[in-house]
Amino acid sequence: MKITGVDVAAYKFPTPEPEADGTLQWDATTAVVARVHAGEVTGVGWTYGSPATTGIVQHHLVGQVVGKDAGDITACYEAMRRNCRNLGSKGLVMQAISAVDVALWDLKARLHSMSLPALLGSVREGVPVYGSGGFTTMTDDQLAEQIAGWRDIGCTAMKIKVGESWGGNVARDLARVRQLREQSGEGVEIMVDANGGYSRGQALRVGVALDELGVVWFEEPVSSDDIDGLGVLRGELRCDVTAGEYAADVYEVEGLCGVLDCIQLDATRCGGYTGFLRGAAIAAAHNLEVSAHCAPALHAPVTAATANLRHIEFFADHARLEPQLFDGVPVVSDGLIRANTTPGHGLALSPDADRWKTE
Ligand SMILES: [Mg+2]
Repeated sequence: MKITGVDVAAYKFPTPEPEADGTLQWDATTAVVARVHAGEVTGVGWTYGSPATTGIVQHHLVGQVVGKDAGDITACYEAMRRNCRNLGSKGLVMQAISAVDVALWDLKARLHSMSLPALLGSVREGVPVYGSGGFTTMTDDQLAEQIAGWRDIGCTAMKIKVGESWGGNVARDLARVRQLREQSGEGVEIMVDANGGYSRGQALRVGVALDELGVVWFEEPVSSDDIDGLGVLRGELRCDVTAGEYAADVYEVEGLCGVLDCIQLDATRCGGYTGFLRGAAIAAAHNLEVSAHCAPALHAPVTAATANLRHIEFFADHARLEPQLFDGVPVVSDGLIRANTTPGHGLALSPDADRWKTE
């Protein structure tokens, strides 16, 4: 079956109030949704980022996939990537490719009347998720409410943001970690994400304090561009040092594997399900697990088919947004997101999605 068309649109979801991590503030999340058609059958994929991604799909990717066989995902992927050589193949370009790639996998599975976990080769039915949010803008009461919500759905690991104001408020960072420790409950693993907000020396000193608090995961203690810095911290700290959410391709994943304890992969940024599976294979060759960054409903099918998978990030903004944008979003219970058994990835654009559409 030939690919007959591609359409793309952006949907903007305001956050309930302004949010921030250590190094960025935002008041909305934009999802860019690509739909790939083969006759009457449609596959859906998406990425999170800028509405400008729609232009990349329209101008540089549609022409590379229309007319190809819907089963030839590798051919489509290579054609898209090669066509964007002069634009730079990472960042926005790879986010656009990621959205189309996910749509292609969804389409292929639907054309075969198979679920994506079955098509990819499932290794588990339920995928562990960890609660993620804990923005630096939240009050103690708001954080307590979020922690209680994660407990209600059975999360056995929880992560908050630290590195407030580019490392300008370490005392509050550590106080909030202590709050999470106290309110998360017995046996829950404590994780933090500094989003690259600390300098190397500061990250080391904070990391020693986090080790004393029993934190098991220190994400982007320094910028993930500071490969040497990540390696130094990994050698000094007991907690796992992690990063990878911006990795766009196999080269960037390979570059991180020598300095991290767990590789974060984001299928909406690293080349869709194709890129996720390739990244996980590289991590496996370094005896490393991978953790899916954000987009829990999108990651459920591919993580169900990834052997060296630790967990999926159940990120507050995306967990709130996905059920508004799509029908068929799996429910989390007992700390697990269940992989779908319905055709494709099991998600379809909601008939109500148009109210969020933006330019
Ligand atoms: Mg992060």
